[in-house]
Amino acid sequence: SLSLVWLRRDLRLHDNAALYHALKSGRPVLPVFIFDRVILDALDDRRDRRVEFLVQEIDRLRTELAGMGSTILVRYGNPIDIWRELTTQYPVGDVFANHDYEVYAKERDKAIGELLNERGIGFHTYKDQTIFERDEVLSGSRTPYTVFTPYSRNWHGKLDPFFLKSYPTEAYFEHLHRGIGQDEANVLTLGDMDFLPVGEPFPNRTVSDTLLDAYKETRDIPARPGTSELSIHLRFGTISIRDLARQARAANDKTFLNELCWRDFYFQVLDHFPHVEKSSFRREYDRIEWRNNEDEFDKWCRGETGYPIVDAGMRQLNTIGWMHNRVRMITASFLCKHLLIDWRWGEAYFGKKLRDYDLSANNGGWQWAAGSGTDAAPYFRVFNPTLQTQRFDPKGEYIRHWVPEFNSLDYLPPMVEHTMARQRALDLYKKGLAK
Ligand code: FAD
Repeated sequence: SLSLVWLRRDLRLHDNAALYHALKSGRPVLPVFIFDRVILDALDDRRDRRVEFLVQEIDRLRTELAGMGSTILVRYGNPIDIWRELTTQYPVGDVFANHDYEVYAKERDKAIGELLNERGIGFHTYKDQTIFERDEVLSGSRTPYTVFTPYSRNWHGKLDPFFLKSYPTEAYFEHLHRGIGQDEANVLTLGDMDFLPVGEPFPNRTVSDTLLDAYKETRDIPARPGTSELSIHLRFGTISIRDLARQARAANDKTFLNELCWRDFYFQVLDHFPHVEKSSFRREYDRIEWRNNEDEFDKWCRGETGYPIVDAGMRQLNTIGWMHNRVRMITASFLCKHLLIDWRWGEAYFGKKLRDYDLSANNGGWQWAAGSGTDAAPYFRVFNPTLQTQRFDPKGEYIRHWVPEFNSLDYLPPMVEHTMARQRALDLYKKGLAK
């Protein structure tokens, strides 16, 4: 019988916990990837960078595996149906996978675990995409942290090299299953799933030590390529979080490590407080009566608010599917506070467009901007887009790159005046929270 390893957001053979355990199971190992129709059918744009990235990365895995005489089984459908088929078609002894912390994924894994167990097949899952997960970093009273600073203190304190060791999968590749033909493995193209290519290259999967050395100074300047742009690779596991954290540690880059800590933090928030997916972490924020003006929302989406930094950010997002972190904070704050539009609208728009879309970080970032989240800035702190521009893009380089017409004298007037909008936000928040 076989050990199947179900790859999901861990698309690599190197340092992969589930693959490592499968390779040590004593049975021949066959990797599987399922293009999940539950997720893909919900996407309304047929040009989707994430789907394109997946197709490309599955191809890369197939080539790597072919070099060792093996392959990856690729399927397209509802995972529960696919697992019924796979366990009928193949003599499966055990299935291995890595943990996923999203609500949908946890329910899916539970259902599939049950199906496999009914058929006498073990389902074994492991921590892989985070450094610490679930209950590994808890407060003194053994409860999950809901504020970042004490969480991060504890997280950094626990960061022993032991937790950053790679799983030496390479030493066991002789246990990969061989002898499955291409037809059976099933090569799926974008077209087979009714998607079209976007055709833009994806960022590299490595970060230089030079960038890490300068990260602290350059990470907040959106005109500079001062961040790693590894987010899509971390999202789909095409790089190992342990390798990356080790590199940051060796470069002695605490600031960069701290960003990886934010990533773990939001995963554990979603895992422990699944209500955040649909509601405010602080429930009283759901009493705010958002203005939710659809025309204003459309202007924000298109990058036509008349605030150049906001417009530049939205156009960067619409054009390349990525936005600099500083500008994500500014555009998100603008939507929630200046336009008083429900953070969930913005969250969903980012969710459609971001190539690095990750429910946990996106939800965390949006709830932070709205003031409704775990680690919220107090609601009365309203970003001033003009001051943010003076601080982080003083020469307007980032703005002119994404909004070339900004140089002309008749650039769009601001859609709302800042002082009025700020006061309006304070009043509306106060009213909602006092209810
Ligand atoms: P770097 O600065 O090079 O950071 C390295 C890695 O650390 C990132 O790739 C990411 O995995 C992690 N990281 C950095 N900052 C954060 C953070 N604040 N929270 C969690 N992880 C972080 N990040 C996503 O990966 N997916 C999202 O959907 C997402 N949505 C966001 C929405 C809003 C409103 C905000 C304010 C932030 C969001 N972020 C999201 C966090 C952050 O903006 C991106 O991770 C970062 O811009 C990605 O670029 P980078 O890889 O160059 O980051």
